[in-house]
Amino acid sequence: MKITDIKVEQSIVPVKHQFVWRKGLSGSGAEQDVARVTIETDEGVTGVAFAGHGRIIQDIVDRRLRADLVGLDPLMKEYLWHRAWEVDRVEETPIYGLGVIDIALWDLNAKIAGMPLYKMLGGFRDRIPVYASTVTYSTIEEFLEIADQCVDFGFRAIKLHAWGDPKQDAKLGQALRAHVGPDIELMYDGSAGFDLVDAIYVGRALAEAGFFWYEEPMREFNIDAYRRLRDKVDIPLLSGETSDGAHFNIADFIAFDAAEMVRTSTHYKGGVTGAMRIAHLAQAFNMRAEVHGGGMANLAIACAIPNTTWYESLVKTNPIIVEPGIGNDGCISPPDVPGIGWGFYPETDY
Ligand SMILES: [Mg+2]
Repeated sequence: MKITDIKVEQSIVPVKHQFVWRKGLSGSGAEQDVARVTIETDEGVTGVAFAGHGRIIQDIVDRRLRADLVGLDPLMKEYLWHRAWEVDRVEETPIYGLGVIDIALWDLNAKIAGMPLYKMLGGFRDRIPVYASTVTYSTIEEFLEIADQCVDFGFRAIKLHAWGDPKQDAKLGQALRAHVGPDIELMYDGSAGFDLVDAIYVGRALAEAGFFWYEEPMREFNIDAYRRLRDKVDIPLLSGETSDGAHFNIADFIAFDAAEMVRTSTHYKGGVTGAMRIAHLAQAFNMRAEVHGGGMANLAIACAIPNTTWYESLVKTNPIIVEPGIGNDGCISPPDVPGIGWGFYPETDY
């Protein structure tokens, strides 16, 4: 079998509910630039991936990837992943671009196998708990109201994206724990908003409030800062969401004692191949590789591996609108169709 073409359909789509994030920093604008990438073959079977940053993806495919990959065998995923890293050496591909071809190749391979991706990858479970991952709401009171809505729906775990203000975020963490009681798991995502001093302050407050994890409080360029933070706070650090270098870099977070848990994902860690490598690397150290972000490919990873706790689903509105597919038991199942199952749950593809 040979790859005959890689098509990119780039478009600008309106964002229905914006990801309001930190003080004045928007995680998404009013419009999203997206791409649907299709790998075509001489045997008619195709593989599809969806990506944000559509214009950049289109540019990389047009200038580099199409010419590099046409004529090669799409079943040789490991070699093609190696090619993506070769191209990365020249292009310094953004982390969201490194795995797009790999995701489409796994969709294609799973279709050929006639298996849902999560089963093709090993298949660990067919239903997984979901955590409600909030946007930054206006006030502590509004956060508490949202937490009530989440618990009423059936979520048993809530993660905060808060203001990035150490004092306010610490107060929020403590107020939320007092409000929901001890049985709802709480997590906090700093989205790299702090330096070391503020990260220690917030981490100590969250530890006191019994938070389950403390995610990305600082930029992940400097592993030593994470090691120092880990020495100072008594809460599991979840590290490596946006660090470059997929499993190579995650290995250093582990080796230098800079994490209790690490992040894996299809969209920031080199596609399905990269995400699985990180999951297995972490498991060898008895560590969790918590799957970052939603979408069908990440759902497949979450159900393929034993060492993640939840699937992440954003809660962006008040009143909350829950992502399609999540039941009142607070869980979601991957589709039992060949491939990744794009479109099975509408609005979750990107
Ligand atoms: Mg995060």
